[in-house]
Order: sequence, then C-alpha cells, then structure tokens
Amino acid sequence: MVERAERMSSGQPRLTLASTIEDIDRRLATRRMGVDRKGPPAEEVLASAFDIRNVAGLLHHYPRRYIDRAHVQRIGRIEVGVPATVIGHVRSVSYRVTRTHKKLVTVTIADGSGTLALTFFGQPWLRTTYRKGMEVAASGIGHRYGRTLQLQQQEVEILRTDEQDLIHTGRLTPVHPASEGVSARTIRELVYRALALLPPLPDPLPEDVVTGERLGSYDRALRDIHFPADDGALGAAIERLKFDELFTLELGVAFRKHRIATEEAGIAHAVEGPLSSALREGLPFAATAAQERAMAALDTAMARPEPMNVLLQGDVGSGKTLVALHACLVAIQSGHQAAFMAPTEVLANQHERSAAALLGPIGGVRYLDRSVAPTAQASLLDAAPDTPPPVLTWALLTSAVPAKDRSRILDGAAAGSVDLLIGTHALVQEGVSFADLSLAVVDEQHRFGLHQRMALKGKGGEADVLIMTATPIPRSLALTYYGDLDVTILDEMPVGRLPIRTVAARTGAERAAAYRLVHEEARAGRQAFVVCAAIDEANKTQVKAAEAEAGRLAAEVFPDLRVALLHGKMRPKDKQDVMDRFRVGETDVLITTTVIEVGVDVPNATIMLVENAERFGLAQLHQLRGRIGRGSHPATCVLFDEAEGDNAIARARIDAMVATTDGFALADEDLRLRGEGTLFDTRQAGMPDLRLARLAEDADLVRRARERAFALVASDPHLVAHPELLEELRARFERSIDWLFRS
Ligand code: ADP
Ligand code: MG
Repeated sequence: MVERAERMSSGQPRLTLASTIEDIDRRLATRRMGVDRKGPPAEEVLASAFDIRNVAGLLHHYPRRYIDRAHVQRIGRIEVGVPATVIGHVRSVSYRVTRTHKKLVTVTIADGSGTLALTFFGQPWLRTTYRKGMEVAASGIGHRYGRTLQLQQQEVEILRTDEQDLIHTGRLTPVHPASEGVSARTIRELVYRALALLPPLPDPLPEDVVTGERLGSYDRALRDIHFPADDGALGAAIERLKFDELFTLELGVAFRKHRIATEEAGIAHAVEGPLSSALREGLPFAATAAQERAMAALDTAMARPEPMNVLLQGDVGSGKTLVALHACLVAIQSGHQAAFMAPTEVLANQHERSAAALLGPIGGVRYLDRSVAPTAQASLLDAAPDTPPPVLTWALLTSAVPAKDRSRILDGAAAGSVDLLIGTHALVQEGVSFADLSLAVVDEQHRFGLHQRMALKGKGGEADVLIMTATPIPRSLALTYYGDLDVTILDEMPVGRLPIRTVAARTGAERAAAYRLVHEEARAGRQAFVVCAAIDEANKTQVKAAEAEAGRLAAEVFPDLRVALLHGKMRPKDKQDVMDRFRVGETDVLITTTVIEVGVDVPNATIMLVENAERFGLAQLHQLRGRIGRGSHPATCVLFDEAEGDNAIARARIDAMVATTDGFALADEDLRLRGEGTLFDTRQAGMPDLRLARLAEDADLVRRARERAFALVASDPHLVAHPELLEELRARFERSIDWLFRS
C-alpha cells in the first residue's frame, strides 16, 4: 500500500528512501545524516542490516519500544541498585584514555534535580555524536562510582538534538531497532520525514471489514505506530496492523483452500474393497478407537471426488503407520498407486518392514525381492497377460538401493506394476514417475516443508495427500499453518503401553545410577539407547567426538555389554546393518546421534540416556523419548543436564519433560518458552512473516481475521473486486509459495 502511495504522489518527484535521506541532509544542512560515523551510507546499512530497501520497508520497520515521558524519574531520585529511566540535557562531553588503555567517553546529563554520568567505553566517535544541549533518555540500574552517579547496563537514546528540534516532543518516543552504523535516532528521523512527505495512504482492507471490525484507518495506524500520541493511539495502531498481517495470512490460506476444493480434480476412491478388508481381518492387534476414527475420516475424504488434504497428527507411538497403510490400500484397490515418503533412510526402512508385516499375510509381494519365491517373481516380471498378478506389490526406494534395482523399480512405478512405493525424498527426485498415483503419504512432515510435500503430490496430478506428523502442534497454530488441511488427531495410545518414567540427572551419583540401570536392564534382556548431544553431522570434528565417546563408553562404562554406534554420516548400508543388529537384539547399547529421532521402532528398548539434554529442543526431546516405551516392559528416560546454573530455559525444558509425557502439553510449554517463531519456520511453511502478530497470543484476532478472510474469498473467490488486495497478497507471500498463484 505504501508502494501505491509512493506512486500516487504525482506531480512531485517520487518519494524514495534515497530522496528521504537526501531531504534530511538538506534540511539539517550537515554532513550526511545517514552516517552516524565513518562507514557505509545509510541506504546500504539499512538494506544489509534490516532488508529495508524502500520507504515501505522503512515504515514497516516498527519501533521495538517507546520511551514514555510520563514515566520517567528525576535524576535526583535514582537509587543504587534500582532500575530507572531518566531524561536530561547534555551538560558536557569528555573523552580520555584510561590507565588500562580503554577509550572512555563520558556524557554528563542533568535535569535540574541532579547530574548523571553516562559512560561509553571503546566508542571514541561518540564524543562528536553527543553535543551540549541535546536531550537524551537513559535507562539502567542506579550505581555509584566514587561520588559519581551512573547507570549499569545503561541504554541511552538521543531524543532531541536541540531546542529547535520538534520531531520528538511527543510523550512517547519510539526506539527503532538499530544496528552499528545506523542509530535508532537516525531511523526515527527518517521515518518522521518519510511520513511527513507521504500523502494519505489508501486503505488496503475492504471497507466493510474495517468498519465491521471497528478498526482504525491504515494511514492513522502506520503513522501512530511510529509516533503515537498516547497509549490508546498506540494500542489501536498495533491492533490494526496486526489485523492486517493476520488477514493477509488467512486470505492466503482461504484462497488456497478454495482453489483446491473447486479447481483441482480429485479421485473418488473405492473405500470398500478386498485389500482394506483383508488388512482389517489380518491385524495382529485391535485398532484403537482413535485409529478407527482416523481411518473412517480418511475413507470419507478419499471417497469424495474432490481432492483430499489431510494432516494426521499423532504422538509418537500412536500408530499412524497402520492408518497410512489403510489409506494406501484404498488407493490400490481402487486401481491406482500410492507413495509413502519418510524423512530418513532409517525410517523408510522401518515403514517398509511395517508394510511387509501387514501386507505379506494378505498376499502382498515385495517387488524384485530375491527372497520371494521365484514363481512370484516370475509372475511379477514375466507374467503372461492372462495370469492373475499378485494382489499387490510394494518396493522400497532409498539411496541405498543399487542402481540396477533402482532403475527396474522406477520402470515398475512408471508402468504401474509397483502399487506402493515407499522411500525417502528419493521419491520426489527427477526420473521418478508413476503410472497413476492417487495417494501421496508424507510422514513427519516437519522435516520436509511445503515444497517437498507439493513435489510428491505433483507426481500424481490429482493425488490425494495425507501428511503425518508426530510434532504436536498447538491448535491455535495448526489452524493457520495447516489451514488448508483437514486435521485428524490420533489422541489415544495402543493399550498396554506403560508410561515412561523420566528423570533428570545432574550429579555424578545420578549418572552412575543411570549407568547401573543400563546394566541391570541389559542383564534382564532389555536394550538401551545412549543419545549423544545434538551434533552437527556435517562437522567432522563433532562426528569424531561422538565416535570417541562411543569408544570410551564401550571400553570404560559398558565393557561387559555389546555396544554399537550409529550416526548420520555412516554409509546407508552400514546404518541399516547397525539398526538391524540392534532390532534383533544382537546389540545391548546403541550409541547414537539424533538419527534415531524419528520413527525407529524397537519395542525391547527400555532405556534411553540423553547426553547434554539441555542442548536439545523440547520437541526433539519428546521425539527421542518416543523411541522407548513401545513394548510391554516399563521404560526409563534419563536426561543428563549439564546446563550452567543460569540457563533457566534449558532447565525449564528438562523439568517439563520430567513432568509430562503428553506431547500437546509439551508443545504448549515449548511455545511459551520459545515463542512460535522458533517452533515454526514460517518461510519453510510457506507463510509470510509476521512482524507484530503472534498466532498463539493473538488467538482472538486470528479468529476474527480468519472469518473475514474466508468470507471474502467465499464471496469473491478471485478477488476481482479487490485487485489491490491481490497485489498485497502476492507481495507478502512472495515466491515462497508460488504455486499458490500458479494457473
Ligand atoms: P507412530 O504413530 O509413531 O508412527 P507406529 O505406527 O510406528 O507409531 O506404531 C508404533 C507401534 O505400535 C508399532 O509397533 C505398531 O505395530 C504398534 N501398534 C500400532 N497400532 C496398534 C494397536 N492398535 N495396538 C497395539 N499396537 C499397535
Ligand atoms: Mg511413525
């Protein structure tokens, strides 16, 4: 919208960032104002530090805080050890080199009640930045150095350069995010000039939305967020701008959902059929009620002629694989193919084993498998046209598959003789094509991001999509981040699961006890994971360190046990061998990096020790812990906490892990501890950035924006009546999801 206003300033020269800076230079008739000290020009600093490239970018660079004149203290009232904010005028500026060779600038300010010394070490250029008569605000903790009053952890802002400077006389003075080379004051100045030169901004929102939601005008909001008259104006501005962010975000979601529903064709699957019923009848356990509900929901969605987009959310161990295989069989018995994509080799192998266990008994055959009876293979590869084919075939495609097999599997998928292809991201690579793919299952979506999800769907033209994730996502976020998906939740664990005991180990004695526990369990025939700290597997030194640690544990701590090491840098074949030996019980202790985080299923493993648990995120710890407690024996997870005393957040994470095994409770805690920005990569999720709004905290605003956005798309699906909104949408979503607009 600002861009439009820039263009609209007809007659006058176009308002640009450079012209704003020049204007200020001219007005102040001083050196280049953008340069606070010797360094690159302001334009360059703004672009490199904040990605500000035009006036629009500048105006969307919102203040990080405001200095409130109504809440400042008198200098004379500052108390030692107590935080204070004061405003005063510069009395004197001095510069000297201390006995320890530090460059010290001292700026003395006064407000009539007393004087305060602001001290700056190592920034000699400040002696010309501060000038007598300037008005500055300072915050910090009261401190006395000899007889001089100072502030510790001081934060200083120049409010006014002199008495003639009328810019910053309001009650609330904005403090914009600044960086070396461009101060908050410079940015404040630029924003002020830009706003003064800018004609009134048109409102991007439809009028009925603005009035219906009782929002202030866009123009008012953009001016007030930078220079608010009071708290009321600031609050209204923030609400309005948050609404705009959320509205465009939800509009994108609504837009896309509408397109999928109306413009993409789907396949009406046959949900009743021989394969799905054979699977039910042959199940070695009773499906949980949650699994039943999920399968029924998928049946309904797959039977419809519209495309399906479902997110299946279920905590680790809740049994998502069965639900996914059921959906695959529905696709196959309807005469199509299915693909099942996992984020790691280990997990792809695991899914393939699950598939073999469930599909073998109902007549499934592994494509090209040399262990399968020659007749079955013969019928697969050289069948006469009238011989009945096996009921279904599946194949595994990972980078470990030898080239020769790989090309035959690819031929099989392209020809339609492979019904189910299970694999890693190898599935979405070039050269992989399907004769008739109608279902794409993507496991553990958070590892892939939107692009790969869409790439797999793209292999099928009209394929239904089932995304599975074990990362519990707070509902408030799921609605938006997965707003174009229908969410199904597996909220129940298979019966007979014993709760996992979790303990934190912080002392040497606790560590010794944990090692003893591993010995005891191994003697009882159980197995253990030892997870090394989150190592960067691209980093050779760290991999070496993990190997050394494995050697040490094997030799010194568990000399009597069978110990093996697994890490991501091993050759796929070696990885698989190590996993296979652990699975069949030939290894007691598996020392591993986070490669086991996702999906490994070894029910006999009852112990997990996590080294440097303080370095892991909460979601990751929860995933790791889900690797144990999958069998009929009680399990224990020990989190070694080496956090330094002041790392309260790390400690809070570990305490949360000890307190609960509920993934949703942990997700909420994670959100609280870290904020959603770190929980979710908006870019990766294909969403525009949010500057002010927070999906979790602004839940009510999210709901309102969402309702308005969906209503607008329902009444004007192509935004024909709102071209400027469409333009804004394109700009905000950028190329991060160009398929949104692909025709
Ligand atoms: P996840 O949701 O983590 O992918 P899986 O599908 O791997 O879970 O299932 C975890 C384990 O639970 C597997 O060993 C699977 O065979 C078993 N399982 C799945 N559903 C049931 C059930 N209804 N009853 C008993 N065991 C089940
Ligand atoms: Mg799984």
